[in-house]
Amino acid sequence: MKKTILITGASSGFGKTTSRFFASRGWNVIATMRSPELETELSGDPSILVTRLDVSDNASIQSAIAAGIEQFGQIDALVNNAGYGQQGLFEAVKPEKIQEQFDVNVFGMMNVTRAILPHFRLRKQGTLVNISSAAGRVTTPILSIYAASKFAVEGFSESLAYELESQQIKVKIVEPGYVPTSFYERAGAEFAYDAALTDYNTFNGEMAELFSSFAGGLNATAEEVARTIYEAVTDGTYTLRYLIGPESEPLIALRNSKPDQEYVSALRSMFMPAAFENKVESI
Ligand code: NAP
Repeated sequence: MKKTILITGASSGFGKTTSRFFASRGWNVIATMRSPELETELSGDPSILVTRLDVSDNASIQSAIAAGIEQFGQIDALVNNAGYGQQGLFEAVKPEKIQEQFDVNVFGMMNVTRAILPHFRLRKQGTLVNISSAAGRVTTPILSIYAASKFAVEGFSESLAYELESQQIKVKIVEPGYVPTSFYERAGAEFAYDAALTDYNTFNGEMAELFSSFAGGLNATAEEVARTIYEAVTDGTYTLRYLIGPESEPLIALRNSKPDQEYVSALRSMFMPAAFENKVESI
């Protein structure tokens, strides 16, 4: 029997590429998105059901799951992929934008997970793949809200993995590093800036320079992310984490290999402009 996967945020980026990847490997795909009426590339394939799902709208989640089961008979795997990145200094991000970030990246993921679990439990099988980020393991400045949401995804998923193993349900965390997708268009458009926060002007300038020096390095592709998600769903193991990204692997290896304060000091020397370093070290 053909297997079926439900993917959230399938209108672009990893979600769309992963939908195509699974369909090409003989899976049925429930490709869900907020505006299915705008989708033209996935809709012609008979093994792909394009349907509406907004992770903040429980009725839409229930309808998408019901439509998928009606069309394909069962759901074997869920990819909680919908998400975006709120960037900017913490003090510049308005409380309602923080709420929105958590509503999508964290509470949205929980909403879809809660809705699928009775189906997985009934069948005593199922694989849940939660898309976190390298920013769920390591952080940089200007990323506190996004990183907080992805650290929450990590804690949620790791704890859930222990609970659900008792039900023969596998939980996987996929952690991409930098991968060019429309993620960065939305992140740029929603970047929080407050001109009144002049105390940060020097720091902002230093960070802009530092981040632009990272540009143009090695990075993974959406295709590699899709292949990793496929591996996570089909490898038959209870492996929890799948990290992708040549630029983030060394940073996570550093975090894993060093005592915590040594790691923080290494990062501080990278992110703290030299002008401030001595002052901070002496505090
Ligand atoms: P993307 O191309 O911008 O895709 C994000 C998807 O999430 C879009 O389909 C978007 O739908 C959807 N979405 C946003 N809010 C939603 C909501 N309330 N309900 C349902 N769907 C919603 O970005 P991407 O790079 O593929 O990102 C996918 C995931 O990977 C995200 O969780 C992101 O945090 C994570 N990630 C990305 C990178 C990277 O470098 N690209 C790195 C690490 C982790 P609309 O079209 O309706 O807005």
